[in-house]
Amino acid sequence: MGKELLRKIPSVDRVLKMFPDGSKETKEAVRKGLDKLRKAILENQLHEITDEIIRKFITKEIEKAKKFNLRRVINATGVIIHTNLGRAPIDNEVAEHLKEIITGYSNLELNLETGKRGIRYQNVKELLKELTDAEDVCVVNNNAAAVLLVLSALAAGKEVIVSRGELIEIGGSFRIPDVMKQSGAILKEVGTTNKTHLKDYEEAISENTGLLLKVHTSNYKVLGFTESVDSKQLVELGRKHGIPVYEDLGSGSFIDVRHYGLSYEPTVQNIVKSGVDVISFSGDKLLGSAQAGIIIGKKELIEKIKRHPLNRALRIDKMTLAVLEATLKLYKNEEYQKIPVWRMISEPENSIKARAEKLHKLLAEKLPDTFSISVNREEAEIGGGALPLETLPTFVVEISIKDKSEEAFYELLRKEEPPVIGRLKNGKLLLDMRTVKEEEIEVLSKSVLSVAKKLIDG
Ligand SMILES: *Cc1c(COP(=O)(O)O)cnc(C)c1O
Repeated sequence: MGKELLRKIPSVDRVLKMFPDGSKETKEAVRKGLDKLRKAILENQLHEITDEIIRKFITKEIEKAKKFNLRRVINATGVIIHTNLGRAPIDNEVAEHLKEIITGYSNLELNLETGKRGIRYQNVKELLKELTDAEDVCVVNNNAAAVLLVLSALAAGKEVIVSRGELIEIGGSFRIPDVMKQSGAILKEVGTTNKTHLKDYEEAISENTGLLLKVHTSNYKVLGFTESVDSKQLVELGRKHGIPVYEDLGSGSFIDVRHYGLSYEPTVQNIVKSGVDVISFSGDKLLGSAQAGIIIGKKELIEKIKRHPLNRALRIDKMTLAVLEATLKLYKNEEYQKIPVWRMISEPENSIKARAEKLHKLLAEKLPDTFSISVNREEAEIGGGALPLETLPTFVVEISIKDKSEEAFYELLRKEEPPVIGRLKNGKLLLDMRTVKEEEIEVLSKSVLSVAKKLIDG
């Protein structure tokens, strides 16, 4: 029986006539589809072959092949700056500008006034100077690159004094001691995990000290019996001994987060004001723009950083620059609502609730009785190593299933098109609406209903 069926499988060439687009992807998909068909026959899952069945097998493979590996997903985790989901989204208006720049030529390194070769980040330099009050600016690929470049340019072969409470590791194996080693600077740890005093820094200063470093503890907090030295005190100490102070701010916000009920974190402008000589931060965390490492500070030091050969190796590209300039213009014009990260952080609870109710309605009408579904108030993190202990109130659609695991639900949602990434809490699946846009609700509901059907059908 099986053998006879196997013989009935048409040739690749014949099947290709059914899918005549001739692309390499289609050809590969046809081969794969026929292999799967063969396998299904051998495993006794198929007892006939029709054109319709062949078409079904092949179409499935073609759809798979045509998908991009990097694609749009729906973020229903509620985590606004989600490292695994691409950190900061950008606004349509900014994306339009990006499109215009990258679909043609641009004056990336041409000064249109003089006709001479220009510097590639002139456009963002002026904006950053104006927004932060810093003397000079250098922009590189990401903040990890910024840290490496600053240490290499200012402290190779010299000691860099850091508090033991700030020897951070952030995701993707970025560790301060390792970056330090790579830069050629010598790590000089002072203080203890929970307490570092000004005199700890002072006692460690020697002829070979190149830099005093302060690192933002982005993804943890030392709580309880603690003490750390603030930027201002460190600057005073640095001045006294003629040693520059560098602060790796990590996230780096231009906006005071206290406006949104969160607890105080210094803004970039505050740190500049406190006199810190060099500051670096990410472009795609609380700044809400493209991936970049922004270095600002005293002219003389920034000049030295720019001249270092690593600067050329770590430079940013035009796509980043287009997005960064457009985002910085939004800050200049105080159009914060056009920066998705801030739009999401500042959204009032009742409008999130309205979206949760809309999704609830779409689902409650169609989900079978084995599912229970409700709208609940919850708390969600901001993410991205921004404010580790802070949460924002939010509204979620909570789904549970009789006799089935929510984990299976969560996993299958990720395999839908578009993929939906939810959040599991105490065995419940939560779809957090703070990070879901109005226009995503309908497709989100379709993905949920499709998974529900799969779970019921076994
Ligand atoms: C996030 C972070 C970095 C790395 O920044 P990327 O832009 O991800 O390269 C470095 N230092 C601190 C303190 C951070 O929070």
